[in-house]
Amino acid sequence: MIIEKIAESRFNDSVFESKVFGKNFTDHMLVATYKDGKWSEPKIMPYGPLEFSPAAMAFHYGQAIFEGMKAYKNENEEVFIFRPDKNFERFNLSAKRLSMPEVPAEIFMDGIKTIVDLDRQWVPKNYGTSLYLRPTMFATEEAVSARSSHEYMFVILMAYAPSYYEKPLSVKIADFYSRSAQGGVGFAKCAGNYAASFFPTEEAQKEGYDQVIWTDSIEHKYIEEAGTMNVWVRIGDKLLTAPTSERILNGVTRDSLLNLAKDMGLDVEVRPIEVAEMYEAYKNGQLKEVFGCGTAVVVNSYNAIGFGEERAEIGILPDEESYAVRLKTALRNIQYGLIEDPYGWRI
Ligand code: PMP
Repeated sequence: MIIEKIAESRFNDSVFESKVFGKNFTDHMLVATYKDGKWSEPKIMPYGPLEFSPAAMAFHYGQAIFEGMKAYKNENEEVFIFRPDKNFERFNLSAKRLSMPEVPAEIFMDGIKTIVDLDRQWVPKNYGTSLYLRPTMFATEEAVSARSSHEYMFVILMAYAPSYYEKPLSVKIADFYSRSAQGGVGFAKCAGNYAASFFPTEEAQKEGYDQVIWTDSIEHKYIEEAGTMNVWVRIGDKLLTAPTSERILNGVTRDSLLNLAKDMGLDVEVRPIEVAEMYEAYKNGQLKEVFGCGTAVVVNSYNAIGFGEERAEIGILPDEESYAVRLKTALRNIQYGLIEDPYGWRI
């Protein structure tokens, strides 16, 4: 790995006072290029603009994928990355589906560890804050031709992730638009999935909701996932989450919470969740909690659900009764190195 260090660090303490997510980039980035069937030696260099042709194929045909994970620091200045192996695995699943080359572990995993170590002063240690790591790959071949590109660039960027007050969100259950289709790319973390979700999300926002809970694209009968989160529904004392599929992103947070919920002895079940079942539970006063989970927020509760024209206000349970709060606390304590990590999730 080639390492070209920045002449003078741009870091100063005011970075950690920022309230914006994903804008305060660290001193370095990692870049590797793919050409003639092989990857170049990765290079870590000062963060800054890169040059592309306007004919770079990612702009035209959308071969672009990414990942998101976080690094944390404890009181002893130890830095942890949370389950990067899962993101590495998912990145290459996305690559395969988008007909892009896989990135080898020597570039992805060694790259992540090396660059986080190099920029470790950018990893904050206040509970709730972290450094967001964003590996991405896109097609760079200069060609206006509808086929898969022969050239790619892999980049790792890192940006400060502040702690923010997680207000409960209101979500509309999709009854017209879809995020993904059977046989499609829903399970891949590709740029186009997000592009396609913005317009329906903005439409829901005009109706007074923050986000959309996506449903299956055929009948809009089953709950799938929300914005950038997997969804959990608590009916009575039973905690449900939908199985992952080719339409749903296999979230690392979801997987972690599933393990924690089982080990806490919660009554948790992975099975398809019908919109009608949720609505009925709401009517019967049994819809206790609905929440989303993902790397960015860990867990975010929903206090209102849009079922068609009806806005169901479900309220938020006190902390001591909330599964969302219990799960979030347990996961965060592992992420920040405050408790033992029996799962081996901290790297
Ligand atoms: N679903 C979608 C569509 C997402 O973008 C994300 C964020 N990566 C998630 C779920 C949650 O995944 P993770 O827990 O791995 O962040």
